Amino acid sequence: MAESLSNKKLHISEQPFTLRNWYRHVNWINTTLILIVPFFGCVAASYTQLRLPTAIWAVVYYFWTGLGITAGYHRLWAHRSYEASLPLKVFLACVGGGAVQGSIRWWSSKHRAHHRWTDTVKDPYSVRKGVWYSHFMWMVLKQNPKDRGRTDISDLNQDPIVVWQHNHYGEFILVFGMLFPMVVAGLGWGDWKGGLVYAGILRFLFVQQATFCVNSLAHWLGDQPFDDRNSPRDHVITALVTLGEGYHNFHHEVSNLPCQVLISSLTSERFPSDYRNAIEWWQYDPTKWSIWVWKHIGLASNLKQFRVNEIEKGRVQQLQKRVDQKRSQLDWGVSLEKLPVFSWDNFVADCQGGKSLIAIAGVIHDVTDFIKEHPGGKALISSGIGKDATALFNGGIYQHSNAAHNLLSSMRVGVIRGGGEVEIWREKNRDKRAAVSSP
Ligand SMILES: [Zn+2]
Ligand SMILES: [Zn+2]
Repeated sequence: MAESLSNKKLHISEQPFTLRNWYRHVNWINTTLILIVPFFGCVAASYTQLRLPTAIWAVVYYFWTGLGITAGYHRLWAHRSYEASLPLKVFLACVGGGAVQGSIRWWSSKHRAHHRWTDTVKDPYSVRKGVWYSHFMWMVLKQNPKDRGRTDISDLNQDPIVVWQHNHYGEFILVFGMLFPMVVAGLGWGDWKGGLVYAGILRFLFVQQATFCVNSLAHWLGDQPFDDRNSPRDHVITALVTLGEGYHNFHHEVSNLPCQVLISSLTSERFPSDYRNAIEWWQYDPTKWSIWVWKHIGLASNLKQFRVNEIEKGRVQQLQKRVDQKRSQLDWGVSLEKLPVFSWDNFVADCQGGKSLIAIAGVIHDVTDFIKEHPGGKALISSGIGKDATALFNGGIYQHSNAAHNLLSSMRVGVIRGGGEVEIWREKNRDKRAAVSSP
């Protein structure tokens, strides 16, 4: 009894699943729109003939409604990466509504939270909670209000198109999700039922699943050329299924850039981003191409792009990080500072005693195991034993490669006292350290 009382105080998402409460965990509106209606659509498709004009119309409407999400909901409203004229806004609000993924206001506020709180508990579709969770379970299950990542959507609340669409969202689903594609097919070529099932329900099922892939697949599959601290990734497969939203590592990176790097130059912009997801001309990004075309026919303006220099800085930093990681895994020989110091006489005496040591640039190398493998021959390397072979190694007849220099460093065993700059540098460093550590 005490337990059930305490459970009543807890939000349903904090209570364990039981046979009695499971239905209270479910967000039934979302579940109806993304699972139940599409399920019945699939059942209906099994006994509805697919006619060619309907198939073509379904694909065309798939692209329109997909663009409503990618170019409209995402790049225009969530990120403000360009400005759209009123007719374009109305078009994107209508076809975006036809994608049946919530209103612009709801979708954009979740998406801004996703960017602001990526991979944390406040990320509404954090991939850290599992790929399926980030794909659609975050909508099927009720989320804990305590974990809601708050964001500023005051600009959306002032946009009459956004408010109009949000207040009539139910009608938008009915009209642009189902009735409009049905009426086009019905009046166009008499296929009312096929229009509803294929261009309506199955088409929005595909658009929904494609968009959900940006939240799941694009945080799970692919490369991280700009930043690997969080989960977003670039992959051509994700780009193909999402009208170009697959270059997600870049997208998350530039969305965070203003607060870190470009705040001074972009203070007038509240949610700046780049209107592109793919920055190379050969990468698949039809959303970017559409926005570019709209600009050239006067429907879109102020397309935002980050400076190439800033983008390249991110790419180079990530490359450097990878190089450093790789470098740290390799054996570069004992560092000069840790090598013991020998006098020249000791070095010569050790060689006379049978050791195969060679001095190069003031550093003693033990080549015992390498003599037989020396690509230049046993005789040549043997001639350097007990001597200073700096000139022999560094120039003259044979110029050793980088690989040879690296291999040589792995054979270091000591430094010669007074044997050159290396030893002097080493002593200097030691003195410096001693000076720093002494009070
Ligand atoms: Zn985004
Ligand atoms: Zn993301």
